[in-house]
Amino acid sequence: MTDTYDAIIIGAGQAGPPLAARLTAAGMSVAFIERKLFGGTCVNTGCIPTKTLVASAYAAHLARRAGEYGIGTGGEVTVDMKAVKARKDMISTRSRNGVESWLEKMERCTVYRGHARFLSSREVQVGTHRLAAKQVFINVGGRALVPDLPGIDRVATLTNTSILELDTLPRHLVVVGGSYVGLEFAQMYRRFGAEVTVVEKAPRLIAREDEDVSATVQEILEAEGITVRVGAECIRFEPRGADIAVGVECTSGPPVATGSHVLLAMGRRPNTDDLGLENAGVEIDERGYIVVDDELRTSAAGIWALGDCNGRGAFTHTAYNDFEIVAANLLDGERRRVSDRILGYALYIDPPLGRAGMTEAQARATKRPLLIGRRPMTRVGRAVEKGETQGFMMAIADAETHQILGAAILGTGGDEAIHGILDMMDARIPYTTLQRAMPIHPTVSELIPTLLGEMKSVSP
Ligand SMILES: Cc1cc2nc3c(=O)[nH]c(=O)nc-3n(C[C@H](O)[C@H](O)[C@H](O)COP(=O)(O)OP(=O)(O)OC[C@H]3O[C@@H](n4cnc5c(N)ncnc54)[C@H](O)[C@@H]3O)c2cc1C
Repeated sequence: MTDTYDAIIIGAGQAGPPLAARLTAAGMSVAFIERKLFGGTCVNTGCIPTKTLVASAYAAHLARRAGEYGIGTGGEVTVDMKAVKARKDMISTRSRNGVESWLEKMERCTVYRGHARFLSSREVQVGTHRLAAKQVFINVGGRALVPDLPGIDRVATLTNTSILELDTLPRHLVVVGGSYVGLEFAQMYRRFGAEVTVVEKAPRLIAREDEDVSATVQEILEAEGITVRVGAECIRFEPRGADIAVGVECTSGPPVATGSHVLLAMGRRPNTDDLGLENAGVEIDERGYIVVDDELRTSAAGIWALGDCNGRGAFTHTAYNDFEIVAANLLDGERRRVSDRILGYALYIDPPLGRAGMTEAQARATKRPLLIGRRPMTRVGRAVEKGETQGFMMAIADAETHQILGAAILGTGGDEAIHGILDMMDARIPYTTLQRAMPIHPTVSELIPTLLGEMKSVSP
């Protein structure tokens, strides 16, 4: 027997639950399917648990530096990993339960627990239930990519999911992958007290960022005693007693990094391989991402894909924005598009990197005349007062239109301060407008008008 609804939503990540709320409020009946943890990656194995752990790691770091501020801690700073994990679990669980009960109590919404699989473009199987709807919304997210590297099946490795179950401190954590996920774990575990080595295949860390950002991030991590091995061209694994040897063979340094634990942080892959998309006529690209148009419609009429699984974003806020686009277009008579949004994001090492729009390399590639400004955090009063002067801020504008094209704030409060720039970019106002503003003293943001005012012309 088939149960028929107005809409089916697959996946309780960042887009599915708020979409269910909008659709049901509009009077539609919704079948909601989740196979595992409500709240998805962000709530259970991504943003929330990692940022909670980053906060514990920051507390340990600051406690060790307490003497610099004239504060005594009365002895050695210790880290109780069981308590650290319990705090993380409590915050994450509260959020997960919130999403679950929200959906459970939602009028006109029926929650199904199990793995969803398309039978056709209008029918989805979940357990023994066969569901049908005219509209289907896919929000299945992604998971850690575990590449088929030599020796990987001979050793135990961790992913961002399994490392969150540790309540003891690894003696030596080798993080394979020097990008956003890997670097956050690397720094937090170093601050918890582990030896940490980061092994990265590319010639520099977070290679998508500008070279000065990569170099400064590397300096920040090395200053805390993290070993960074970039240019690791032939990564492979081998058991070595109770330890694991990770082959790196960089141009200099020892050919292996040996650790007690290995975290694989080598990218993500979409959860689209077991969804029966072929039965629905939903096209995927060569990496498994669902192909969507600018309004997130898939190749099959009546089916949309939102969040990480469509490859148009890899963040909680891009997934949520996908929901806003789909809801506005379907329910509010608007025409919102993915290409209208300006990307911003943060890397939550400490100090954090806040990013908006283009990198300098991307801006230069447009061949437009540019204005670029830079200021080290040593020249930001608030950073000096806080004793957190690592990093710098930079901004790029179009020299003719005066529109801001991009910015990076790698420094204390950078994840918050970047919004001053992101908001201006979204409002499409010229940077000169900010020259008349009166920012609050002392903040990191107060230097943004100064930074913009000091921009210099660079030749295309
Ligand atoms: C370690 C880490 C840290 C991160 N930190 C940040 C951060 O600080 N800021 C940020 O913006 N982003 C961060 N991210 C990225 C962010 O978590 C994701 O971009 C976001 O969660 C994507 O949401 P989503 O809705 O696309 O999918 P998900 O949140 O992945 O949700 C998908 C849901 O679908 C379910 N599902 C999958 N297949 C099926 C099926 N066949 N049937 C039924 N249910 C199914 C899954 O169980 C899951 O619950 C981080 C990611 C990681 C891994």
